[in-house]
Amino acid sequence: MKEPARILVIGGGYVGMYAALRLQRKLKRELRHGGVQVIVVDPEPYMTYQPFLPEAAAGSISPRHVVVPLRRVLPDCTVVIGEATAIHHGKRTATVRTLATEEEGTGTVDIHYDELVLAPGSVSRALPVPGLAEFGIGFKTVEEAIGLRNHVLEQLDIASSTRDPDVRDAALTFVFVGGGYAGVEALGELEDMARYAVRYYHNIAPEDLKWILVEATDRILPEVGEEMGKYAVRELRGRNVDVRLETRLDSCADRVAALSDGSRFPTRTLVWTAGVKPHPILAATDLPLNERGRLKCTAALQVEGVEHAWSAGDAASVPDLTADRPDAVCAPNAQHAVRQAKVLAANVAAAIAGQPLTDYAHKYAGSVASLGLHRGVAHVYGRKLKGYPAWFMHRVYHLSRVPTFNRKARVLSEWILSGLFKREIVSLGSLENPRAEFKLAADTGRHPGAS
Ligand SMILES: Cc1cc2nc3c(=O)[nH]c(=O)nc-3n(C[C@H](O)[C@H](O)[C@H](O)COP(=O)(O)OP(=O)(O)OC[C@H]3O[C@@H](n4cnc5c(N)ncnc54)[C@H](O)[C@@H]3O)c2cc1C
Repeated sequence: MKEPARILVIGGGYVGMYAALRLQRKLKRELRHGGVQVIVVDPEPYMTYQPFLPEAAAGSISPRHVVVPLRRVLPDCTVVIGEATAIHHGKRTATVRTLATEEEGTGTVDIHYDELVLAPGSVSRALPVPGLAEFGIGFKTVEEAIGLRNHVLEQLDIASSTRDPDVRDAALTFVFVGGGYAGVEALGELEDMARYAVRYYHNIAPEDLKWILVEATDRILPEVGEEMGKYAVRELRGRNVDVRLETRLDSCADRVAALSDGSRFPTRTLVWTAGVKPHPILAATDLPLNERGRLKCTAALQVEGVEHAWSAGDAASVPDLTADRPDAVCAPNAQHAVRQAKVLAANVAAAIAGQPLTDYAHKYAGSVASLGLHRGVAHVYGRKLKGYPAWFMHRVYHLSRVPTFNRKARVLSEWILSGLFKREIVSLGSLENPRAEFKLAADTGRHPGAS
């Protein structure tokens, strides 16, 4: 019997999940009859809807509703929970490490394919700043968002119970580096949440909290344009957020954030959102990369100069056919990732059927960003909005975009409930160490004298 044509999708994020969804629909018959097989590999069993991470950090949406279970939405695909560690496209082979291979001690497994969709996205672009690797945290995953929420609430508990003014000051100082939407939205939502939470602390006033946004260029939120970016700076400063433009973080060694303008802030919270870089797995392939380490792709989303390899999203450098400059490439954002994924899947199906391919062309429509509850900025299709209307638009837009009806209904009901009831303000940081209590009990049992 003839082997099925195998399409291997590395990464189940925006590009991977949407491409697999589209392939599942387009190749329904072939998948059912065994003519084609789609395998999706991702270290996590879910796709993360990243634009909702700031709201998850603020507690407006529960963490499990910002993720989409891959197995549920991709019933006709094979989902492998694992991490690709290398790709040898010449041999049409991807090397994958899974939990099972680790458990069995076999290390990795090789998966052969006929068509490769490589979509591992990007990782935080951390610079060699002293102390950053030890004390910094990124804001790209649901684990980071929830970890940060718990951490911020924990700092309020520390500040409220310490007698040492230095410890208190450091606990109440929150430094965010990077003024793109990840950093600004995360700061806006967490500041809002913390200001609300301190009403339940008898010895912390909102003015005691120090929020600092450090941005190397002269503007924040470039995605919403200059005018709305300036508005966002005014809005944040009006809330007592210390926005420092044209400033860099020089060091955060010993938990002191030292900035290029000479100021120093002892802090226990340093959030790094100063840009992204292509995923390091790309360097472990024999595929062509551009000078920034992204996969060189054609407008039809094929990897340049090789056959049967496709890419899109943050990992790919795709020509922007709508731009005036001929060398312009699409920016790494969800707007392009989703649309590229759909064209990519259609082209993979067309290539298998021997049909012509379509070029990707989408003019960036603009952006919406939330600055906390009831506050936002938007610049979409030439229209500029700020304050409540922009925030409302942000919610409507993302509700319409979050995948599956199930998720939309759950997110909407959470928003309605959080409008009716008070916010949750407890830190569940101990969830990160669930065995601690039992371990203590077991240790005390072994050494009865110990208390
Ligand atoms: C906080 C935040 C807010 C954002 N807000 C917006 C917004 O409002 N609007 C907007 O347009 N964009 C926004 N973005 C950007 C947007 O989320 C990204 O551009 C988009 O996710 C890119 O899609 P992707 O498929 O390339 O990567 P991802 O969605 O990141 O998917 C990559 C996937 O690959 C998997 N993977 C990684 N390594 C491996 C490996 N070795 N093997 C197998 N799988 C692997 C990952 O687990 C992940 O599931 C935001 C990003 C963040 C972090």
